[in-house]
Amino acid sequence: TGKLYLCATPIGNLGDITYRAVEMLRAADVIAAEDTRHTRGLLAHYDIHTPMTSYHEHNKEEKGAELIARMRAGETVVCVSDAGLPGIADPGGDLARRAIAEGIPVTPLPGANAALSALICAGLPLEGFTFVGFLPRKEKKRREVLARVADYPETLIFYEAPHRLKETLAALAAALGAQRRVCAARELTKKFEEFRRTTLGDLLAHYREHEPRGEFVLIVAGADENVVSTADAEEELSLTERYAAH
Ligand code: SAM
Repeated sequence: TGKLYLCATPIGNLGDITYRAVEMLRAADVIAAEDTRHTRGLLAHYDIHTPMTSYHEHNKEEKGAELIARMRAGETVVCVSDAGLPGIADPGGDLARRAIAEGIPVTPLPGANAALSALICAGLPLEGFTFVGFLPRKEKKRREVLARVADYPETLIFYEAPHRLKETLAALAAALGAQRRVCAARELTKKFEEFRRTTLGDLLAHYREHEPRGEFVLIVAGADENVVSTADAEEELSLTERYAAH
């Protein structure tokens, strides 16, 4: 049988793709892309001429079945989304589950991911974290999710679109407290990459003054972020002070 590769693609800077990913994209029988027009730019940049087919949320049933049939017949499929890791707030998870159920080998081609790139630069605890991704749009569902994670001790990771950022920050401040520390990671790996390390209340005030533009990840401190063991207390205190100074 064939094989399914889940391939990371750049989240901004076109250089952020591995040698192996480029080689596998070249060697594959077909590339299953979330948006073939979008991925065409990446393929042109790396002189890759592999045929593409579209695979997204709205055709995953019939296209998924078709791709499974091709892999069963021995073909290699490389699945990509528009940016970052397929399956993370993007298509790809369903295809992976189908392939696994069919006994088809599934392999990652690791690389760029907005959530983890933002997390490691946030200056918040990394020992444990919860990826929430996009909050539900409907207010009731959103409140349910926020109520569930409000007391989590681990750092929280959210994705958001610029036109909804203020609304989401207001909801976060209401549910988690305006004093909760946050890092807004904007335009990662791009020309106007920026990190704002502050509190939810201050970040909301900032974006009420300056219309948010570009792509955002919000890294929010966990509920226990300031509860530390005596051994860590001194280090943690100086971290808090340094954080407050920024
Ligand atoms: N699959 C992607 C990944 O692995 O990161 C995520 C795709 S999701 C549809 C798009 C969201 O990811 C954006 O709304 C934003 O929250 C975040 N994102 C993607 N690229 C980003 C970047 N360069 N800078 C900041 N956030 C980014």
